[in-house]
Amino acid sequence: MFLSVFDMFKVGIGPSSSHTMGPMVAAARFLDMMRASPFAFHGLRASLHGSLAFTGVGHATDRATILGLAGFRPDTYDDDKAEATLAAINETGTIELDGLGTLRFDPKADMIFDYDHALTGHANGMVLMATDAQGDVTLRQVFYSVGGGFVLTEEELAQGKATDEGDPIPYPFKSAVEMLEMAKSSGLTIAQMKRANEVSRGCEESLNRGTARLWQVMNDCINRGLERDGILPGGLKVRRRAKGIYDALMAERGMNLTAPHTINDWMSVYAMAVNEENAAGGQVVTAPTNGAAGVLPAVLRYYLDHVPGASEKHMEDFLLTAAAIGGLVKYNASISGAEAGCQAEVGSAAAMAAAGLCAVMGGSVEQVENAAEIALEHHLGMTCDPVKGLVQVPCIERNGLGAIKAVSAASLALRGDGEHFVPLDAVIETMRQTGQDMHEKYKETSLGGLAVNVPNC
Ligand code: SF4
Repeated sequence: MFLSVFDMFKVGIGPSSSHTMGPMVAAARFLDMMRASPFAFHGLRASLHGSLAFTGVGHATDRATILGLAGFRPDTYDDDKAEATLAAINETGTIELDGLGTLRFDPKADMIFDYDHALTGHANGMVLMATDAQGDVTLRQVFYSVGGGFVLTEEELAQGKATDEGDPIPYPFKSAVEMLEMAKSSGLTIAQMKRANEVSRGCEESLNRGTARLWQVMNDCINRGLERDGILPGGLKVRRRAKGIYDALMAERGMNLTAPHTINDWMSVYAMAVNEENAAGGQVVTAPTNGAAGVLPAVLRYYLDHVPGASEKHMEDFLLTAAAIGGLVKYNASISGAEAGCQAEVGSAAAMAAAGLCAVMGGSVEQVENAAEIALEHHLGMTCDPVKGLVQVPCIERNGLGAIKAVSAASLALRGDGEHFVPLDAVIETMRQTGQDMHEKYKETSLGGLAVNVPNC
């Protein structure tokens, strides 16, 4: 199994990796299929199923799908161009595409929310269709958005776990136990093994350049979130809070008046800044998803700005270690809220961030595994119940708390010697089973939990 650090951390747009980025990626793949087909097409149609239908409006899934069908991709997304394109589609009922010409697409009729027919493969299902001159479907593809912006066709999903057809990698660990064993026999850290795997599929220079860009986008996102005020879109009237808290923290700095636990507010404010940007549809990095995108950047920024002796030269080790842990969770359980609840999103993010922090603070491989285990263990059972289907409540604050737990988990692990009672593999498996048993209403459908108990004004 090889999941690159660039699979785990992808530059994209908010508010959701599974409900916004994934559908856009699926649409881009569908356009490639159309271009490869010998047939001429005259129209497009899309239907959303399961969680994509239930929380699609709040997550802007329809918008992302239409833009994807119009040729937009998450990594090169341009908001101004997107608005102009959507306005043109609404006005003309057509989409203009390079190599495919002018295709009929009336958003009111051709963008379907199917609440009654969930697809069997995964909670996040969608069907994309191309039609002929008579409006009959001549190309149809089922896609599943399986979390973190990853997309599989129906056929790929049926084949089981995503296959890796690349060259063998030097350290192909599929579990935490294997990771610990390989680290022991090679004498390498997790980051060093992960780096060797990455370089075997690319080159050192592009790895360094790519991780530097990831951190740049994460950090820019934090800074934008700390500067912006106002009401978030979507109708819940949630006010952005990061700027106000940050301004207050800056004003208090050096005054010797604050309680020691104020440091938690710094971790929270960095995470909330990211998730407010995400909720506003801004540029974020999946870590491992958009909904949980604030935890890891917040912990890395906390490390760089608040931990004595911290250095940006450790940033890559942080990201590589975190990506290794995220890969284990994704491979053996899930990073998707629609599949396993929020334990799979914010829980995974906290495990990744805790591992990264523990590693750059000098933790042994065993301590790093312990840090990830503590962080994930104490998110077990957490449901996904976003109010009004928006990635705002509880998501924004939850990322702040996820960051705090991640830092605490790393700190606790560093106070031990790496010996611990619960193995990381056991927690990952528990998370998988708990997710499987979790009622559908707690898996990103907004049919239960806070979504039905918070007065919705
Ligand atoms: S509750 Fe958690 S899993 Fe659900 S949308 Fe919010 S951050 Fe994602």
